Amino acid sequence: MEQLQVQEITVEVRRNSRRKTRIGLGFDPAGHVILDAPVNATLDELEAVIVEHERWLRRRLESVQKDAVCVAAPHYVSGELLQYLGQAFELQVKEGASAVVVRERNAQLALFPGLDGIRGEIQVRLVNPAPEAVARRLKRWYLQQAKSVFAQRLAHWQSLPWLSGGLPSWRTRFMRSQWGSCSYDGIIALNTHLIKTPLRLIDYVILHELCHLVHHDHSRRFYGLMAAHMPDWQDRSKELDGFMPVLLHE
Ligand SMILES: [Zn+2]
Repeated sequence: MEQLQVQEITVEVRRNSRRKTRIGLGFDPAGHVILDAPVNATLDELEAVIVEHERWLRRRLESVQKDAVCVAAPHYVSGELLQYLGQAFELQVKEGASAVVVRERNAQLALFPGLDGIRGEIQVRLVNPAPEAVARRLKRWYLQQAKSVFAQRLAHWQSLPWLSGGLPSWRTRFMRSQWGSCSYDGIIALNTHLIKTPLRLIDYVILHELCHLVHHDHSRRFYGLMAAHMPDWQDRSKELDGFMPVLLHE
């Protein structure tokens, strides 16, 4: 699979021998930008198409984000809500030795009015808890959680028949416009922000990228493979669209 990077937008190029002249641009369910191109189109031509449609691409991404929950830029102060594994946690900033502690509310407290929907609190302790420092500490914490949770979920898929030789190389990256990617040589990148979404959606993105190890495209065979291992992948894909706003802020 070819990939092009133009102004922070990653584009997957799908060469199609039946296409003669037209170049098609669109999104796949996981939020990848897909470019359908004739076999003989040059990289310069493809890049020109992306640059020409850059504003449209960004508008499309924005409209998906607008349909989803509105999320304001965080200020990293106590009382703010944070997302973690698809649940809301209240941020508590405290002075102290550097640490991040998750405290889940017990089931009884969760029954009190006004507290429902909030799973608990995430306490950030720092010697000097200025908002920028809290932001940096939280980002580091999300990254640590992402690495450990993604590793567990990848291990969960290890029984897939095409992974008998072992799991592929993978890494996490903070990305703005996509949840994951799979390079032509089979290296998987997972968006660190996925740690803010439920496990079932993390699984969906991981499976999507793992299926690319078999089919490096978004062909019928690719989606057939997805459906064989995750019959409700389309529901999960729609659900994931609702989490687009978590990509807006770090
Ligand atoms: Zn894909």
